[in-house]
Amino acid sequence: MNSHVKTDLAPIPFIDVAAQRARLGTRIDEAVKRVLDHCRFVNGPEVVELEQKLAAFAGAKHAVACASGTDALAMILMAWGVKPGDAVFCPAFTFCATAEVVPWVGATPVFVDVLEDTFNIDPASLEAGIKVAKAKGLTPKVVIPVDLFGQPADMDAIGAIATANGLKVLCDTAQGFGATWNGRRTGSFGDATATSFFPAKPLGCFGDGGAVFTDDDDLVPVLKSVREHGQGVDKYENVRIGMTGRLDTMQAAILLEKITIFEDEIAARQRAAERYNAALKDVCIVPTLDPRATSVWAQYTIRLPHGVRDGLAAALQKEGVPTAVYYRIPMHRQPAYAEYPSAGNGLPVCERLAGEVISLPMHAYLDEASQDRVIAAVRRALGA
Ligand SMILES: *Cc1c(COP(=O)(O)O)cnc(C)c1O
Repeated sequence: MNSHVKTDLAPIPFIDVAAQRARLGTRIDEAVKRVLDHCRFVNGPEVVELEQKLAAFAGAKHAVACASGTDALAMILMAWGVKPGDAVFCPAFTFCATAEVVPWVGATPVFVDVLEDTFNIDPASLEAGIKVAKAKGLTPKVVIPVDLFGQPADMDAIGAIATANGLKVLCDTAQGFGATWNGRRTGSFGDATATSFFPAKPLGCFGDGGAVFTDDDDLVPVLKSVREHGQGVDKYENVRIGMTGRLDTMQAAILLEKITIFEDEIAARQRAAERYNAALKDVCIVPTLDPRATSVWAQYTIRLPHGVRDGLAAALQKEGVPTAVYYRIPMHRQPAYAEYPSAGNGLPVCERLAGEVISLPMHAYLDEASQDRVIAAVRRALGA
């Protein structure tokens, strides 16, 4: 390292949850105190209020709050009655939860390749995956497009393939809540959408949380039943197999405060992404947005030639700049998932990206001075 490089600076946070709390002042504390006072910790009034706000924000008819993004995905598959013998198509370049819920209902995940520029599901590979599933005697049932790193998947192409093949579309917008496609927010596409309020997601709570969005009136009571142990009209009648999938009232109260500043935070993330793009586009491959999409920048992920990424991470670490690699091992190479089929030819784009990607600090409170430190450190490490 050059001697002029300062190493005594405080480390930059990868995601800054504390800055957001400071901005909201006493509002979160007051919201939590209201719940402590009314004591309706489960199914309290804040949960219903949040569901209404979330649906309005997304432009969906209904929102059903739940305990996590993973539960949101699982609840939808359970409510649809997805079962053994059914194929559920998932991109292999994603967080494991997208595919994890599929074996929970006894169905088979079929892994599909992604597009090199957007990191999202490749429509041509989806079509290949449908052929593979049929050849294996599986019934193609559901596709789960993921809005990776905050950018919506190609809803037009996926929707057309789904219609032609009788697939339901379950959008996984755990990373993309608040983003738009053709001017419409995520949560308003497909047959149902799952999102997550894990603290590191664009809209995060102070623990685990999630939600389902749908325009399907008939699905809502089924989702609510699944969320409460498959209860029927009577609480202690069980009409289906369900789970404990509720969102805590406390988390709902916190989210009701956070959602009031979410649009402003999305704008701040967009500004940070544009600054990164302008400052780094000559030294690495910066993220590409489809012209029909906006992103909420859950991650700012660059690409470098194979073999360069881990050295960059080590150099940045020495300068107090954290990085992360999403995702080092694509799903079809994970030991727990290796037995499941994939769309064929080894999913070359997922495998290439897994060796090239690295994510830089990104959040709504990344001030320009900190970001300039990240940029300078990246450029120095890459010898630019
Ligand atoms: C985080 C995430 C999930 C799971 O959300 P949890 O709330 O952590 O259960 C699902 N899919 C994707 C793409 C995610 O990033």
